Amino acid sequence: MSDSSSKKEACGIFGIYGAEDPARLIHLGLYALQHRGQESAGIVVSDGNTVTAHKGMGLISDVFKEENLAPLKGSMGIGHVRYSTTGSSMLRNAQPFLVEQIDRIFALGHNGNIVNVTKIRKRLESKGAIFQTSTDSELIAHLVLHKKGSLSERLIKVFEELRGAWSVVFLTPEGIIATRDPYGFRPLCIGRKGDALIFASETCALDIIEAEYIRDVEPGEIVLADHNGLTSIQGPRKQTPAMCIFEYIYFARPDSMIFGNGVYRVRKQLGFQVALESPVEGADMVVPMPASGNYAALGYSQGSGLPFEYGVIRNHYVGRTFIQPSPDIRNLGVRLKLNPVREILHGKSVVVVDDSIVRGTTSKLRTRALREAGAREIHMKISCPPIRYPCFYGIDFSSKGELIACSKTVDDVCEFIGADSLAYLSLEGMFRAMPYPPSHFCTACFTGKYPVKINDEFSKTCLESPPMDSVRWP
Ligand code: 5GP
Ligand code: MG
Repeated sequence: MSDSSSKKEACGIFGIYGAEDPARLIHLGLYALQHRGQESAGIVVSDGNTVTAHKGMGLISDVFKEENLAPLKGSMGIGHVRYSTTGSSMLRNAQPFLVEQIDRIFALGHNGNIVNVTKIRKRLESKGAIFQTSTDSELIAHLVLHKKGSLSERLIKVFEELRGAWSVVFLTPEGIIATRDPYGFRPLCIGRKGDALIFASETCALDIIEAEYIRDVEPGEIVLADHNGLTSIQGPRKQTPAMCIFEYIYFARPDSMIFGNGVYRVRKQLGFQVALESPVEGADMVVPMPASGNYAALGYSQGSGLPFEYGVIRNHYVGRTFIQPSPDIRNLGVRLKLNPVREILHGKSVVVVDDSIVRGTTSKLRTRALREAGAREIHMKISCPPIRYPCFYGIDFSSKGELIACSKTVDDVCEFIGADSLAYLSLEGMFRAMPYPPSHFCTACFTGKYPVKINDEFSKTCLESPPMDSVRWP
């Protein structure tokens, strides 16, 4: 689903308790969550005494071969797919994060960003703590070690100290613990398959293993899956949540339920709202930018009465548009993934629907390709408002400089991408398409209203000093 290696997305997490061969189910679950992270993947399993792990860089299919999966024996485990939002993409930062000294925690997998990580880490380091990675996730493990009481009591204390976004699964000797931050920025759901209990970022990971969706982990809730079944403790929770609205717009899979609601309908509704807000006189058809733009384009077609056509075809065998050193080859990379259909587009006025514009660079290349395929007019419709503010809670557009709508007006963006017209969905239109009131979402990327204060020191690489790339082993 991702279109460019320059933008990063949230991670995917999965946990299972009480399964005969947990690694196989985690493996399948991670396949379903692959769109949430493609940089590294890992699985850690346990029988309560021994722990077995495997992780590596790349896609699930790169990291896990039969010889890596077969030794992963146990009755429970957790898995993770990563797209880095704090700490560089490298094996040492791959998750699940294995914990050796902490009694009662074997491993953890984290989706989100801890924004006060620098301050807490400096404090711990001054007391002698040694960190192994440059991720914020490791901090959670350190803090748990420094607290007293039962594990859940410790977690509550830790969560009072942390600021930011975390959906986390912990592997412990007794079972799996799953939890979300008090705002519930990132999704996390609970499922069941026979006697096995499952946690996953999205319900599509439950579907793939034929598990039943029970409910979501609530913001601030700590849920334990062990031999007693599910036990829940409600930790600190905000009065209204701050669910990431961009999960509905772009990140989550359309066949998932997140935050207790289906993604497909929301995405289609977003497109329907765009059609109501910005119709195009005399257009011949609606064309989606696949795959992420498909559902909004369908909504636009239904809202406008214009026929829906696949004017651009996606090559399913191409994953991420990998970084190419030369711009010429990089531009060809966009064609590798998406190719316009000349016989559909030639001489036509087309409404092109995409879910979002972040940097504008891919949109520009695609518009050019549509023109070369003979499109007469290109009216670009974006099913969310302009993204003007960085995200600090787990989506990697973390600097203003990389957001085109931050420095350019809509007209300037239109000119930059080379379309005949450009319209974004309004904030009101976006909220009309959402299943919950506006106050229940984090909309910081559109509005600049950050639910959790950001300290100036926070950045993706704030824990890397000296830069890890510059470390040389003799
Ligand atoms: P742009 O024109 O901004 O370079 O790229 C727009 C495309 O990027 C859209 O098709 C959208 O689906 C996709 N996109 C939006 N957000 C993200 C993200 O966080 N990661 C990736 N990989 N693609 C994104
Ligand atoms: Mg896209």
